[in-house]
Amino acid sequence: MRASSVHEDVIVLESRVWRTTATAVRSGDEAFLIDSPVFPDELELLPSLLEQARFPVRGLLASHGDWDHLLGRLAFPGSALGVAETTAARLRAQPGEAQRGLRDFDERHYLERPAPLALGSVEALPVPGYCGLGERELELHPADGHTVDGMAVWIGWAAVLVCGDYLSPVEIPTPDGGIDAYLATLARLEPLLRAAAHVIPGHGSPLAAPTALELLTEDRAYLEALRAEPASARLPAGRRDAEQRRLHAANVARLRGEPSDS
Ligand SMILES: [Zn+2]
Repeated sequence: MRASSVHEDVIVLESRVWRTTATAVRSGDEAFLIDSPVFPDELELLPSLLEQARFPVRGLLASHGDWDHLLGRLAFPGSALGVAETTAARLRAQPGEAQRGLRDFDERHYLERPAPLALGSVEALPVPGYCGLGERELELHPADGHTVDGMAVWIGWAAVLVCGDYLSPVEIPTPDGGIDAYLATLARLEPLLRAAAHVIPGHGSPLAAPTALELLTEDRAYLEALRAEPASARLPAGRRDAEQRRLHAANVARLRGEPSDS
């Protein structure tokens, strides 16, 4: 697990699988953890790592309801989990979805965990809205389109945007929640990118804002091409490996209404 500091109050941890990010944000003597790493040893290390860095975690946030972002409670079992209202509704409508996703992954990789995942008390946060942390506030913005739910977190005093599964340098857009919704989220994020110093994508290393803006342009072009003529949409340069081609094929199949395994 890679750790990097993008601001004195913001540490980013990158899981060894899918480069899933977890972001610790601090104000005074209180910190929140946004999203989670995936492997058991990474989650086990997290409390001591953040304590040593003087980020006392008092609460958890998740950018959206996909299971790989929801594992914070395995590291901080007593903490409440704050999510967008859309994510809370999704978790209510599909109870056990996250646990099933985690179990499938663990079985495929022969992983063992000390305890099962319990999401505990899930707090639905109004989005758009604010969430208090110490003497400061996090700004919450709707971010649906990758999935039907989700939020981006703007850390104003650090000029850091934690955007969930958008603007990834390693993964093409997968618009499970609809291409129009995805494009609307990109449009909503764009002014935040212009004010940002750093952007933390859900998968991949922290980005300098100009790089994130380039990814936004590429992702918008890809999605517009996908919407206009799925078969002819070209993958963004730098994201054309076999796995990205597989995700693209799944995007095309989804648009044609074919059943898909991802
Ligand atoms: Zn994800």
